[in-house]
Amino acid sequence: MPAPHPHREIPLSRPDVSDAEVALVVETLRSGRLSIGPMLERFEKQVAARTGCRHAVACSSGTAGLHMILRGLNIGPGDEVITTPFSFIASSNCILFVGATPVFVDICPKSLNMDPALIERAITPRTKAIIAVEVFGNPTWMDAYVQIAAKYELPLIEDSCEALGTSHKGRQCGAFGRAGVFGFYPNKQITTGEGGMIVTDDQGLADACRSMRSQGRGVTPLEPEGGRHDPANVGAWLRHERLGYNYRMHEMSAAMGVGQMRRLDEIIKKRQRVADLYMTRLMTSKSLILPSIEPETVMSWFVFVVRLAAGYTAEERNRIIAGMRNHDVGAGDYFPCIHLQPFYQKEFGFRAGQFPIAESVSQRTIALPFYNTVTERDVDIVCQTLDVMISRENLQRA
Ligand SMILES: *Cc1c(COP(=O)(O)O)cnc(C)c1O
Repeated sequence: MPAPHPHREIPLSRPDVSDAEVALVVETLRSGRLSIGPMLERFEKQVAARTGCRHAVACSSGTAGLHMILRGLNIGPGDEVITTPFSFIASSNCILFVGATPVFVDICPKSLNMDPALIERAITPRTKAIIAVEVFGNPTWMDAYVQIAAKYELPLIEDSCEALGTSHKGRQCGAFGRAGVFGFYPNKQITTGEGGMIVTDDQGLADACRSMRSQGRGVTPLEPEGGRHDPANVGAWLRHERLGYNYRMHEMSAAMGVGQMRRLDEIIKKRQRVADLYMTRLMTSKSLILPSIEPETVMSWFVFVVRLAAGYTAEERNRIIAGMRNHDVGAGDYFPCIHLQPFYQKEFGFRAGQFPIAESVSQRTIALPFYNTVTERDVDIVCQTLDVMISRENLQRA
């Protein structure tokens, strides 16, 4: 089958790094201060201000941030943590890092986030926290999770790695729970290459995370400006008060973050425009279910994921994705269920059928090319290619 149009490759994702970030990184490289410096503090202040949280702690990845929050809340062996099977693996792996047990609950087919009623049923005396993920940046049900967490006196941990800049009824993602985490991998709304950021109002938790990210050192000698050069702090650099890690974010990444954060509103607008173009173009398709966003939500789109209508199989979906890739149009299968990952099945005995909605949804999703600079023509090419691939499947069935 010929391609609908001859064209250049349209990738699934593409970072948007402006001259401002390049200048900030070069300035940092020339400054001689490559770690624990002023850029880190600036980036943390920006994210704290944006989310309205008192503390922001930058770290080496979103995954590292999740790990430190669980440790900071003293979650460990014998504890259960409720979370979603429909997410990127890190939101569940962090539970395993501390020796606790992930307890999955199924999702709502509309929002793709955890079903609040099922969370309540999954709570046991061993439950020590809830990790909620704003899947694809959608904050639906966050209010309900906050209420459940309050009712059962459980900390709500917000994996906001896909939702930087999204707000719901005026509240920023990351600020709903006891602590939130952002991730800055290159496909996220803003990127630092690799990186993450914890936000919280809890001073004790923030201090514990600052210490853990830097080998368990005491906080005071490190912040600000890495007081290791201060004559009053002799000995502090090699004094370790708790088990820590090297989860620091270096200054070049923080410098990128400073530049990217300044552009966050512009980035959100650009992504909204691309999402609107897809919505308009795909609205009339009988074969597709489009993202469903509540009216009180201002989205900061992470990805644009559609799904095939009920009745399409995983094999059909996979052929459609392969067909798009064959025509140089990026497409992805976000997300395979976490409980069905080979490691989770083998280690914990999970099996197909346990979380039917998550499983059914995950077999039919197709992530479309999505980044700040997608053009109207790109959207046309993507949607035409998608149409052709779906029609091909429909014809084979008939
Ligand atoms: C991106 C992401 C993370 C963090 O990823 P890192 O690569 O460790 O920064 C965590 N959870 C979810 C749901 C994500 O999408």
